[in-house]
Amino acid sequence: MTLLLVVIAAVYGLLIGSFLNAWAWRLVHDESIMRGRSHCTECGAQIRAYDNVPVVSWLLLRGRCRDCGARISWRYPAGEAATAALFAAVAASVGLDWLLLPYLVFVAAMVLVTQVDLEIQIIPDVVILPTAAIGLVLMVLVGDGEWWEWPVAGLGAALFLFAIAWLYERIRGVEGMGFGDVKMALCMGVYLGAAVVPALFIGFVSGAIVGVTVMAATGKDAKTAVPFGPFLAAGAVVSLFVGDWLIGAYLDFALR
Ligand SMILES: [Zn+2]
Repeated sequence: MTLLLVVIAAVYGLLIGSFLNAWAWRLVHDESIMRGRSHCTECGAQIRAYDNVPVVSWLLLRGRCRDCGARISWRYPAGEAATAALFAAVAASVGLDWLLLPYLVFVAAMVLVTQVDLEIQIIPDVVILPTAAIGLVLMVLVGDGEWWEWPVAGLGAALFLFAIAWLYERIRGVEGMGFGDVKMALCMGVYLGAAVVPALFIGFVSGAIVGVTVMAATGKDAKTAVPFGPFLAAGAVVSLFVGDWLIGAYLDFALR
């Protein structure tokens, strides 16, 4: 039963991942009009249905357009594979439960935000704010805990990031973190509850390690080197699955 659910979730993940790619492309290129079918962004040729199979088509075509040979970014199949893997992991972790609903919405939003932030260093309001609102309603209804855990964690995480951004600006005199990251933290808290704490920790540590490495290798400054959103998203996803365990392990260790 669970295996069937996981397989179904993975297949839906591939399709939703493909849809998220198209959505990310429109957000990056500021296109509000939905075009009927997918087109090659280079030559404009319509993508044939059999070339539009998630992940598989990209591999068969070796990452090139069938018509003009233009490179198709590896981020498209990567986004599809990541969405499928996350959907399968959510299904395996919660089983057939109402929690599937908010968790699938959340991981899909994290993939979309990562795709857009990597491309243009913006966490789009049009994605993160509705995701937070939907999360608040769903988590209050079906979340595993007190109803106030979700809004309190959301506001707490947002305030924490806002304080860091404010301090950084005071000390360094330049804007280090975008307000998008503050809204991202709000959204994470709403879905993760207390587990937003290890999520932010993982986000900051991994972001700092990669940021310092990239700065050292390229000589760019921190702001232009790496967008912070993908690290927050990675922390969020890890914490969604093992956040409560991480909190327990830490408390065991700290209170011994
Ligand atoms: Zn083409």
